[in-house]
Amino acid sequence: MSFAENALAGKTALVTGGATGIGAAIVRKLGKLGARVAITSRKEDNLKAAVQGFAEEDGIEVIYRVGDVRDSDGIAAVISDIGSQLGGLDILVCNAAGNFICPTEDLSSNGWRTVIDIDLNGTFNCCQAALPFLKNAASGGRIISISSTHADSGWPTAAHAGAAKAGIQNLMKSLSAEWGKYGIRANWVSPGPIEGTEGVDRLIIAQGKAREVLNRIPLGTFGQGEDIANAVVFLAGETGAYVSGTELVVDGAARWGS
Ligand code: NAP
Repeated sequence: MSFAENALAGKTALVTGGATGIGAAIVRKLGKLGARVAITSRKEDNLKAAVQGFAEEDGIEVIYRVGDVRDSDGIAAVISDIGSQLGGLDILVCNAAGNFICPTEDLSSNGWRTVIDIDLNGTFNCCQAALPFLKNAASGGRIISISSTHADSGWPTAAHAGAAKAGIQNLMKSLSAEWGKYGIRANWVSPGPIEGTEGVDRLIIAQGKAREVLNRIPLGTFGQGEDIANAVVFLAGETGAYVSGTELVVDGAARWGS
């Protein structure tokens, strides 16, 4: 899919967890369409390598700051620094997440807490910290959270992540209502399984479930990172001007497959 060249020229964006997987695909797309982009996550090696790759392979300059979305004060300082460096923040993509497979009867409270802390609390921390910048965004700030179709269906053996994603979706609805007066749109994209990501490699292929999952996807293939990036651009650009508090599902109709 192609958007108008420079569709996001003059915009600034932060993608949490933007060094890898779906986040990196979003960064590439935002950058190629003219946005100035920053990324943050915990591992400096990943961030450095990604920034180098974006420059060499995609011709886009991306800045990075090390940060842990669980640390409310720390991530607030990171976001404040990024907003100052970029001269504002129009688009916040809450993509950082953690997950692992574990039957709920064996799940420790620590395991539960860790995933809720990264996914749900981390999303809250980033939205709260980005608010002063998003309020000043010329065409209305955009918050786009990366959720999962499992937020609705439940997520057997990853109940921690399913519950966190359901919480994120509810948070986006609340923010769309509370922060609409600031011109801020808050939405979420719910991907199905996306090829070449930790999510598919570790949670599906490594469990020997690739064929079973593909058989349930009516379009017959895993999605691509670019499919999610296209949905983010739709919500982040002029195309998303009157869209807030809602979901964009990108799953090849997997929810309805059997
Ligand atoms: P991924 O490559 O593992 O991306 C997760 C990113 O989050 C990593 O870059 C990681 O970087 C960062 N991160 C983890 N904990 C963090 C923390 N405490 N603070 C800051 N950053 C943190 O996985 P992915 O598969 O691309 O997933 C991206 C998003 O899509 C997630 O929200 C996931 O739930 C969602 N999703 C994925 C799929 C799929 O098929 N892959 C399907 C549905 C939804 P560091 O390790 O450097 O911190």
